[in-house]
Amino acid sequence: MKDKFTLRSFQYSFGKDEQCLEAVKQLRFADEMECPKCKRVAKFYKVTDRTSYACNFCGHHIYPLAGTIFEKSTTPLSYWFFAMYLMTQTRAGTSAKQLERMLGVTYKTAWRMFKQIRMLMAQSPSLLDGVVEIDETFMGGKGKNKAYVPNFNEIPKEVVMGIVKRKGEAYFKHIPNTGKWTLLAQIKEHVDPTAHVMTDDYRGYIKLPELGYTHDTVNHSASQYVLGNIHNNTVEGFWSILKRGVYGVYRIVSKKYLQSYVDEYAYRYNHRADQNMFGDLLRQVAEVKMIKIV
Ligand SMILES: [Zn+2]
Repeated sequence: MKDKFTLRSFQYSFGKDEQCLEAVKQLRFADEMECPKCKRVAKFYKVTDRTSYACNFCGHHIYPLAGTIFEKSTTPLSYWFFAMYLMTQTRAGTSAKQLERMLGVTYKTAWRMFKQIRMLMAQSPSLLDGVVEIDETFMGGKGKNKAYVPNFNEIPKEVVMGIVKRKGEAYFKHIPNTGKWTLLAQIKEHVDPTAHVMTDDYRGYIKLPELGYTHDTVNHSASQYVLGNIHNNTVEGFWSILKRGVYGVYRIVSKKYLQSYVDEYAYRYNHRADQNMFGDLLRQVAEVKMIKIV
Protein backbone atom coordinates (compact mmCIF):
# COMPACT_ATOMS: atom_id res chain seq x y z
CA MET A 1 0.00 0.00 0.00
CA LYS A 2 1.26 3.46 -0.84
CA ASP A 3 1.54 5.59 2.24
CA LYS A 4 2.16 9.19 1.24
CA PHE A 5 3.88 11.34 3.80
CA THR A 6 1.23 14.03 4.08
CA LEU A 7 1.55 17.46 5.68
CA ARG A 8 -0.73 16.16 8.42
CA SER A 9 1.49 13.21 9.29
CA PHE A 10 4.56 15.42 8.99
CA GLN A 11 3.18 17.88 11.53
CA TYR A 12 2.12 15.08 13.84
CA SER A 13 5.67 13.69 13.92
CA PHE A 14 7.79 16.83 13.60
CA GLY A 15 5.60 19.79 14.48
CA LYS A 16 7.50 20.61 17.69
CA ASP A 17 11.16 21.47 18.25
CA GLU A 18 11.57 18.69 20.86
CA GLN A 19 10.29 16.06 18.42
CA CYS A 20 12.78 17.24 15.80
CA LEU A 21 15.66 17.25 18.29
CA GLU A 22 14.73 13.74 19.41
CA ALA A 23 14.73 12.61 15.76
CA VAL A 24 18.27 13.96 15.26
CA LYS A 25 19.39 12.33 18.50
CA GLN A 26 17.96 8.98 17.35
CA LEU A 27 19.85 9.31 14.10
CA ARG A 28 23.19 10.04 15.69
CA PHE A 29 23.20 8.21 19.02
CA ALA A 30 22.09 4.80 20.28
CA ASP A 31 19.57 4.65 23.16
CA GLU A 32 22.31 3.30 25.37
CA MET A 33 25.94 4.07 24.70
CA GLU A 34 29.27 4.59 26.41
CA CYS A 35 29.40 8.00 28.04
CA PRO A 36 32.39 9.96 26.67
CA LYS A 37 33.16 11.17 30.19
CA CYS A 38 32.47 8.45 32.81
CA LYS A 39 32.86 5.61 30.25
CA ARG A 40 29.85 3.72 31.56
CA VAL A 41 27.10 2.44 29.29
CA ALA A 42 24.54 5.12 29.98
CA LYS A 43 21.16 6.44 28.96
CA PHE A 44 20.94 10.11 28.07
CA TYR A 45 17.96 12.24 29.07
CA LYS A 46 16.75 15.48 27.53
CA VAL A 47 17.88 18.56 29.45
CA THR A 48 15.05 21.06 29.91
CA ASP A 49 15.36 24.21 27.79
CA ARG A 50 18.62 23.09 26.21
CA THR A 51 19.44 21.25 23.01
CA SER A 52 21.45 18.70 24.98
CA TYR A 53 20.96 15.33 26.65
CA ALA A 54 22.64 14.34 29.93
CA CYS A 55 24.27 11.07 31.05
CA ASN A 56 22.18 9.32 33.72
CA PHE A 57 25.34 8.57 35.76
CA CYS A 58 27.59 11.63 35.64
CA GLY A 59 25.37 14.28 34.02
CA HIS A 60 27.74 14.84 31.10
CA HIS A 61 25.96 16.63 28.20
CA ILE A 62 25.89 15.48 24.61
CA TYR A 63 24.69 17.75 21.77
CA PRO A 64 22.91 15.98 18.89
CA LEU A 65 23.02 19.10 16.69
CA ALA A 66 26.79 19.60 16.97
CA GLY A 67 28.44 19.32 13.57
CA THR A 68 25.15 19.15 11.67
CA ILE A 69 23.64 21.79 9.40
CA PHE A 70 21.48 22.87 12.36
CA GLU A 71 24.36 23.72 14.65
CA LYS A 72 24.54 27.37 15.73
CA SER A 73 21.30 28.23 14.00
CA THR A 74 18.94 30.47 15.93
CA THR A 75 16.06 29.38 13.71
CA PRO A 76 13.80 26.88 15.52
CA LEU A 77 14.53 23.28 14.56
CA SER A 78 10.91 22.70 13.56
CA TYR A 79 11.32 25.45 10.91
CA TRP A 80 14.31 23.59 9.49
CA PHE A 81 12.33 20.38 9.38
CA PHE A 82 9.43 22.11 7.67
CA ALA A 83 11.80 23.60 5.10
CA MET A 84 13.19 20.12 4.42
CA TYR A 85 9.69 18.79 4.09
CA LEU A 86 8.75 21.49 1.58
CA MET A 87 11.89 20.91 -0.46
CA THR A 88 11.11 17.21 -0.86
CA GLN A 89 7.44 17.59 -1.70
CA THR A 90 7.39 19.33 -5.06
CA ARG A 91 8.57 17.99 -8.35
CA ALA A 92 9.47 21.43 -9.61
CA GLY A 93 11.49 22.49 -6.57
CA THR A 94 11.16 25.11 -3.87
CA SER A 95 12.98 28.43 -3.97
CA ALA A 96 14.46 30.36 -1.05
CA LYS A 97 11.79 32.98 -1.77
CA GLN A 98 9.07 30.37 -1.22
CA LEU A 99 10.70 29.29 2.06
CA GLU A 100 10.76 32.91 3.17
CA ARG A 101 7.00 33.17 2.58
CA MET A 102 6.03 29.76 3.99
CA LEU A 103 8.17 29.99 7.14
CA GLY A 104 7.84 33.69 7.81
CA VAL A 105 11.61 34.17 8.18
CA THR A 106 13.81 36.79 6.54
CA TYR A 107 15.12 36.16 3.04
CA LYS A 108 18.64 35.92 4.39
CA THR A 109 17.64 33.16 6.80
CA ALA A 110 15.60 31.37 4.14
CA TRP A 111 18.54 31.45 1.72
CA ARG A 112 20.92 30.10 4.35
CA MET A 113 18.58 27.23 5.19
CA PHE A 114 18.00 26.53 1.53
CA LYS A 115 21.72 26.32 0.86
CA GLN A 116 22.39 24.01 3.81
CA ILE A 117 19.52 21.68 2.94
CA ARG A 118 20.81 21.51 -0.63
CA MET A 119 24.04 20.13 0.83
CA LEU A 120 22.07 17.12 2.02
CA MET A 121 21.06 16.48 -1.57
CA ALA A 122 24.55 16.23 -3.04
CA GLN A 123 25.05 13.24 -5.32
CA SER A 124 27.15 10.22 -4.49
CA PRO A 125 26.30 7.72 -7.20
CA SER A 126 27.40 4.19 -7.72
CA LEU A 127 28.93 3.07 -11.00
CA LEU A 128 26.08 2.92 -13.53
CA ASP A 129 25.69 -0.20 -15.65
CA GLY A 130 23.15 -1.84 -17.97
CA VAL A 131 21.75 0.47 -20.66
CA VAL A 132 23.12 3.92 -19.95
CA GLU A 133 22.03 7.08 -21.76
CA ILE A 134 24.52 9.94 -21.88
CA ASP A 135 23.83 13.46 -23.08
CA GLU A 136 24.76 17.05 -22.41
CA THR A 137 22.69 20.20 -22.42
CA PHE A 138 23.23 23.94 -22.20
CA MET A 139 21.85 26.06 -19.40
CA GLY A 140 21.79 29.77 -18.78
CA GLY A 141 22.61 32.62 -21.05
CA LYS A 142 20.06 34.77 -19.28
CA GLY A 143 20.00 37.09 -16.32
CA LYS A 144 22.82 38.90 -14.60
CA ASN A 145 25.45 38.57 -17.31
CA LYS A 146 23.19 40.08 -19.91
CA ALA A 147 24.18 43.69 -19.37
CA TYR A 148 27.85 42.94 -19.83
CA VAL A 149 27.55 41.06 -23.08
CA PRO A 150 27.11 43.22 -26.15
CA ASN A 151 25.83 40.45 -28.40
CA PHE A 152 23.11 38.19 -27.01
CA ASN A 153 24.34 35.25 -29.07
CA GLU A 154 27.68 35.38 -27.33
CA ILE A 155 26.31 34.93 -23.83
CA PRO A 156 28.19 32.00 -22.42
CA LYS A 157 26.13 28.96 -21.65
CA GLU A 158 26.94 26.40 -19.03
CA VAL A 159 27.11 22.70 -19.82
CA VAL A 160 25.39 20.02 -17.77
CA MET A 161 26.18 16.38 -18.51
CA GLY A 162 23.69 13.60 -17.74
CA ILE A 163 24.47 9.91 -17.27
CA VAL A 164 21.30 7.88 -16.75
CA LYS A 165 20.86 4.16 -16.23
CA ARG A 166 17.58 3.28 -17.89
CA LYS A 167 14.97 2.47 -15.19
CA GLY A 168 17.65 3.22 -12.62
CA GLU A 169 19.85 5.83 -11.04
CA ALA A 170 21.33 8.87 -12.68
CA TYR A 171 24.21 11.27 -12.27
CA PHE A 172 24.26 14.89 -13.43
CA LYS A 173 27.26 17.17 -13.46
CA HIS A 174 27.98 20.78 -14.35
CA ILE A 175 31.08 20.48 -16.56
CA PRO A 176 33.40 23.19 -17.89
CA ASN A 177 33.05 22.38 -21.62
CA THR A 178 31.93 19.74 -24.12
CA GLY A 179 35.45 18.66 -25.04
CA LYS A 180 35.85 14.92 -25.52
CA TRP A 181 38.36 14.56 -22.66
CA THR A 182 35.99 16.28 -20.26
CA LEU A 183 33.17 13.93 -21.28
CA LEU A 184 35.33 10.81 -21.22
CA ALA A 185 36.69 11.60 -17.75
CA GLN A 186 33.13 11.68 -16.39
CA ILE A 187 32.21 8.49 -18.22
CA LYS A 188 35.24 6.61 -16.92
CA GLU A 189 34.39 7.70 -13.40
CA HIS A 190 30.67 6.96 -13.46
CA VAL A 191 29.93 4.28 -16.06
CA ASP A 192 30.71 0.60 -15.63
CA PRO A 193 32.82 -0.76 -18.54
CA THR A 194 30.17 -3.44 -19.20
CA ALA A 195 27.49 -0.81 -19.87
CA HIS A 196 25.71 -0.41 -23.20
CA VAL A 197 26.01 3.31 -23.82
CA MET A 198 23.58 5.43 -25.87
CA THR A 199 24.56 8.92 -27.00
CA ASP A 200 23.70 11.23 -29.85
CA ASP A 201 26.12 11.43 -32.78
CA TYR A 202 28.24 14.18 -31.23
CA ARG A 203 31.91 13.52 -32.02
CA GLY A 204 32.92 13.87 -28.39
CA TYR A 205 31.69 10.32 -27.82
CA ILE A 206 33.49 8.72 -30.74
CA LYS A 207 36.16 7.09 -28.59
CA LEU A 208 33.79 5.10 -26.38
CA PRO A 209 34.32 1.72 -28.14
CA GLU A 210 38.09 2.16 -27.72
CA LEU A 211 37.50 2.38 -23.97
CA GLY A 212 35.66 -0.93 -24.12
CA TYR A 213 32.08 0.34 -24.00
CA THR A 214 29.35 -1.01 -26.27
CA HIS A 215 28.18 2.18 -27.95
CA ASP A 216 25.14 3.06 -30.06
CA THR A 217 24.26 6.48 -31.36
CA VAL A 218 20.98 8.23 -31.93
CA ASN A 219 21.30 10.35 -35.04
CA HIS A 220 19.36 13.49 -34.21
CA SER A 221 20.48 15.42 -37.25
CA ALA A 222 18.79 12.86 -39.49
CA SER A 223 15.54 12.91 -37.48
CA GLN A 224 16.13 9.32 -36.46
CA TYR A 225 15.08 9.65 -32.84
CA VAL A 226 14.01 6.20 -31.81
CA LEU A 227 15.50 3.06 -33.29
CA GLY A 228 14.29 0.10 -31.26
CA ASN A 229 15.84 0.56 -27.84
CA ILE A 230 18.44 2.99 -29.17
CA HIS A 231 17.23 6.30 -27.85
CA ASN A 232 18.03 8.99 -25.33
CA ASN A 233 14.47 9.65 -24.18
CA THR A 234 15.20 9.07 -20.49
CA VAL A 235 17.95 11.66 -20.17
CA GLU A 236 16.04 14.07 -22.42
CA GLY A 237 13.03 13.72 -20.13
CA PHE A 238 15.26 14.82 -17.26
CA TRP A 239 16.44 17.88 -19.21
CA SER A 240 12.88 19.04 -19.69
CA ILE A 241 12.11 18.70 -15.95
CA LEU A 242 15.35 20.48 -15.04
CA LYS A 243 14.81 23.36 -17.46
CA ARG A 244 11.15 23.82 -16.68
CA GLY A 245 12.00 23.86 -12.98
CA VAL A 246 15.08 26.02 -13.08
CA TYR A 247 13.65 28.65 -15.42
CA GLY A 248 10.16 28.47 -13.89
CA VAL A 249 10.93 28.38 -10.16
CA TYR A 250 14.33 30.04 -9.91
CA ARG A 251 14.49 32.06 -13.17
CA ILE A 252 18.16 32.89 -12.81
CA VAL A 253 20.85 30.47 -11.78
CA SER A 254 24.38 31.71 -11.35
CA LYS A 255 27.25 29.58 -12.56
CA LYS A 256 28.47 29.26 -8.98
CA TYR A 257 25.28 27.55 -7.81
CA LEU A 258 24.34 25.57 -10.92
CA GLN A 259 25.68 22.27 -9.54
CA SER A 260 23.63 22.60 -6.36
CA TYR A 261 20.47 23.15 -8.44
CA VAL A 262 21.36 20.15 -10.56
CA ASP A 263 21.95 18.11 -7.39
CA GLU A 264 18.50 18.96 -6.09
CA TYR A 265 16.79 17.78 -9.30
CA ALA A 266 19.00 14.70 -9.43
CA TYR A 267 18.10 13.93 -5.83
CA ARG A 268 14.41 14.06 -6.63
CA TYR A 269 14.96 12.00 -9.79
CA ASN A 270 16.92 9.34 -7.92
CA HIS A 271 14.27 9.15 -5.21
CA ARG A 272 11.29 9.28 -7.58
CA ALA A 273 9.87 5.94 -6.42
CA ASP A 274 10.39 6.81 -2.80
CA GLN A 275 7.30 7.42 -0.69
CA ASN A 276 9.19 9.14 2.12
CA MET A 277 11.84 11.35 0.55
CA PHE A 278 11.80 13.47 3.68
CA GLY A 279 12.92 10.50 5.81
CA ASP A 280 15.82 9.86 3.45
CA LEU A 281 16.85 13.49 3.49
CA LEU A 282 16.69 13.49 7.28
CA ARG A 283 19.05 10.51 7.43
CA GLN A 284 21.54 12.60 5.46
CA VAL A 285 21.67 15.03 8.37
CA ALA A 286 23.79 12.55 10.28
CA GLU A 287 26.16 12.17 7.31
CA VAL A 288 26.66 15.71 6.07
CA LYS A 289 28.71 18.28 7.92
CA MET A 290 27.70 21.89 8.14
CA ILE A 291 29.19 24.20 5.54
CA LYS A 292 30.27 27.78 5.98
CA ILE A 293 28.23 30.21 3.94
CA VAL A 294 29.73 33.51 3.01
ZN1 LIG B 1 28.59 9.77 32.12
